[in-house]
Amino acid sequence: MSNFKYKRNQLYCEDVQLKEVAESAGTPLYIYSEQSLIDKYKELKQAFAFVKPLICYSVKANSNLAICSILTKQGAGLDIVSGGELYRATKIKANCKKIVFAGVGKTEQEIKQAIKANILLINAESKQEVERIDEIADKLGKRVQIGLRLNPNISAGGHGYIQTAKEENKFGISLQEIKEIFLQKEKFPHLDICGIHFHLGSQITHPQPFVKALKKTISLIQQLGNKQIKISYLDIGGGFFQPPLQFAQAILPLIKNLKAKLILEPGRYLTAGSGILLTKVLYIKERKQGKKIVIVDAGMNDFLRPSLYDAHHEILPVIRTPNNEHRTTNTDIVGPVCESGDFFAKDRKLALFKNGDFLAVLDTGAYGFSMASNYNSRLRPAEVLIKGNKFFLVREREEYKDLIRREKILTDGG
Ligand code: PLP
Repeated sequence: MSNFKYKRNQLYCEDVQLKEVAESAGTPLYIYSEQSLIDKYKELKQAFAFVKPLICYSVKANSNLAICSILTKQGAGLDIVSGGELYRATKIKANCKKIVFAGVGKTEQEIKQAIKANILLINAESKQEVERIDEIADKLGKRVQIGLRLNPNISAGGHGYIQTAKEENKFGISLQEIKEIFLQKEKFPHLDICGIHFHLGSQITHPQPFVKALKKTISLIQQLGNKQIKISYLDIGGGFFQPPLQFAQAILPLIKNLKAKLILEPGRYLTAGSGILLTKVLYIKERKQGKKIVIVDAGMNDFLRPSLYDAHHEILPVIRTPNNEHRTTNTDIVGPVCESGDFFAKDRKLALFKNGDFLAVLDTGAYGFSMASNYNSRLRPAEVLIKGNKFFLVREREEYKDLIRREKILTDGG
């Protein structure tokens, strides 16, 4: 969290005091550091410099236009999973020749949209999808580059919900079936099947699963090569969460002789530590044996990961006082939503907070706002980007009228 630091007991992002931002923009509030995003991107690029990969930022992690455009300006491509994410990409004038499109349930409409935009690769996740892309390409009179997403049957990732590469998961195509599709590629005259893709899961802290999946993939590429089938793109997805050098050192020896262009799809790695969620203490309840329940103004609708994945996120006071410096109190930090699963911390030793304190929930730049909802008819929070000593509102806080914008009250008779 190098760009989120205390200076004279005040938490700063870059050169901006967060208390001032909270007072000016209100809470709950997401805050992102531009410098952190750029540093992370450069660190990853540097670690893999030897093979010059195409780094496609995974838009789902944080799809705010300001965040995506900071990364594309650094040279990143985009990894998308929906027509909506492609729409966002066009709004920031991203280079479509650097866009890859994954997802098990692409609709006909989304496939058309991707073909018309001339994206780099549609990564197909089933033989039926390959057939559908071929039909649509035929109708549009286009020849389309696609990759096939391999399900390597490997266990990787934090929580079970974010593991995506086991045979029983819905993602990807088995090794055997991938071979069959490649061997029958003449059946798809409107496709250039030129890529292999996998994505193992999220929060993978060790390179070993990548090494395992790569060994399987490289053997497949070699078998295909023996049949004069050339693979131009090897897309190894995202999910990595360790220092990129360690990750690169483990996998570069395996791929250094491959002719295929390497594609990476980092989401969390780039954005998680580049963002925090600011929230304000509303009430404090005392329970037996000194336990405290701290009720804050952000809820699971604003930040879902603790409720959904039991994810641990550090929580710090925005102003450090002698009172809240030491972590001693057995505390739950909970939101206002009507669910007992609405919490950010459970039974944690935390500092003593008081009503009105601002708290920072750390590492919330990935899968934070992008998973936010209007549950309980709560307004989704604002988002702020910090650049040096200035801050910019990059998404306005919603208003009540946004909640009902597309709803209708039926009159008698419908
Ligand atoms: N690529 C694909 C296909 C994904 O499904 C995901 C996340 O679900 C990612 C990349 C990004 O993963 P992470 O944010 O863990 O790097």
